[in-house]
Amino acid sequence: MSAQILIVEDEPAIRELIAVNLRHAGHVPLQAADVASARAQIDAALPDLVLLDWMLPDMSGIDLARQLRADARTRELPIIMLTARAEETDKLQGFDAGADDYLTKPFSPRELLARVRALLRRSSPESTDDPVEIAGLRLEPDTFRVTAQGAPVDLSPTEFRLLHYLMKHPDRVLSRAKLLDSVWGDHVFIEERTVDVHIRRLRLALQRSGHDRLVDTVRGGGYRFLPA
Ligand code: CA
Repeated sequence: MSAQILIVEDEPAIRELIAVNLRHAGHVPLQAADVASARAQIDAALPDLVLLDWMLPDMSGIDLARQLRADARTRELPIIMLTARAEETDKLQGFDAGADDYLTKPFSPRELLARVRALLRRSSPESTDDPVEIAGLRLEPDTFRVTAQGAPVDLSPTEFRLLHYLMKHPDRVLSRAKLLDSVWGDHVFIEERTVDVHIRRLRLALQRSGHDRLVDTVRGGGYRFLPA
């Protein structure tokens, strides 16, 4: 499944090369040439992952990583630091600032994609392509297909992502804010009752096979996907 990945890198050739490779892998690359632009984009909408260059014109990537970790909204944002420096102490400083992983330039596209995939898998299992199946309801992220006891279920892209997230986190109470953050990417501009609208549509789509009963309303808490 595709992830929105913000590339913060001041060298246009490297930035473009990374963007091309991410696009080929099915992701949506966003680009920033400095910290100010990166901040503005992150403030507008949370990406799924940030590739962050160390040396940037207006501020160091390390300082941006520190700022992101200090803010509740961006604390969990997955960060991979990019740097030309290979010294061990720099690496430690990067991890200290809150980077989840580290790539030393020059790196191969294959290595980049492997690290991105691994970090996405760790940070948001729903963004990976593994099919998930619960009580005869099967969702295949790579083909965007949902079936109930083998029969196809028609879902809009939003309901698909919502169902995917619910099925990846069964038996857990998920608040509307949490669902907005995880499914819509950010909840800055969207009202929480939007979640209820899409839950209603999702239940409707699952009604025929009876799987709508798996989407449980938790009074005052949000929603929970029953494990069976
Ligand atoms: Ca640089």
